[in-house]
Amino acid sequence: MAVIAWIGLGNMGGSMSANLAKAGHDVRGFDLNPEAVAAAEAAGVKPVASIAAAVDGADVVFTMLPKGEHARAVYLGEDGVLAHADTRTLLVDSSTIDIASAQALHDAAAAAGFRFVDAPVSGGMSGAKAGTLTFMIGGEAGAVADATEYIRPMAANIIPTGGATTGQAAKICNNLMLFINLASTAEGAVLADRLGLDKQVFWDIASVSSGDSWALRTWYPVAGVVPTAASNNDFAPTFTTELANKDIGLAISAARDTGTPLEIGEHVQTLFQRLIDSGQSGKDCSMIIKLVDGSFESSN
Ligand code: NAD
Repeated sequence: MAVIAWIGLGNMGGSMSANLAKAGHDVRGFDLNPEAVAAAEAAGVKPVASIAAAVDGADVVFTMLPKGEHARAVYLGEDGVLAHADTRTLLVDSSTIDIASAQALHDAAAAAGFRFVDAPVSGGMSGAKAGTLTFMIGGEAGAVADATEYIRPMAANIIPTGGATTGQAAKICNNLMLFINLASTAEGAVLADRLGLDKQVFWDIASVSSGDSWALRTWYPVAGVVPTAASNNDFAPTFTTELANKDIGLAISAARDTGTPLEIGEHVQTLFQRLIDSGQSGKDCSMIIKLVDGSFESSN
């Protein structure tokens, strides 16, 4: 069994690292947030006090961090992974980050003699718990193949995407579609209610009809329909509005770089920005429904 360093034990990383521990690996976890560390420890991850302690003797390092700036700090900082790991250790970043940061990590890792892959995931907190995530992996083919072996206990699908940063490219485009689907699901759900349809009856229809989507089946923003939805739990975050805004912003920025008009994506970002401006950045992004049903405006 492998020695695995895991950095970033939040909503996603906590469950993903727990699945590696359950598979019998020796998983050492590090996070700045003591609550995240305690939850991971309860799930079988050994807590360590620094990145240096996590990577000591590790076969592979996984990182699952919020944004590019966090990933850069964790890999490139004085106390970071490149400064402390052995070059035989394989480096896997599963965070969703901007392509420029991903390229900077590939370049710095290669210059220091490491193998590095960008390996973002799709499937949400429910997929992380169930070990059914989709991984999209960019990098040199041998490193991608080696990363695949470590990833198996966390994944239902593992798809090589090509060279450096192509995993991030796939993830950014996927999430653009996800958040547009989420916004359309919120609008359909509210209109269905106003037209007198029972919420379950409408969901039963849409989930086997042309209105179907992952957002509808996993994050339905009306409480009491889909067990994995944050709407059941007063929008306690499974995927924060701040991270959703980050992801759609990554798509918009990549679209500007490539001269691609994203009129719908840009509009959905303004919806997330309204939630953030009203102090809801830490709530689940499916709270976007409150901009449709009017309850948000009236409670603010
Ligand atoms: P999260 O905020 O719940 O977890 C991130 C963790 O990283 C936190 O516990 C934080 O304390 C830790 N962290 C930040 N800086 C650190 C540092 N310097 N050293 C150690 N730990 C540090 O976020 P999440 O929802 O788990 O998402 C993580 C990444 O996965 C993001 O890039 C997100 O876009 C992506 N993602 C999230 C989901 C989802 O449904 N939540 C799905 C797919 C991908």
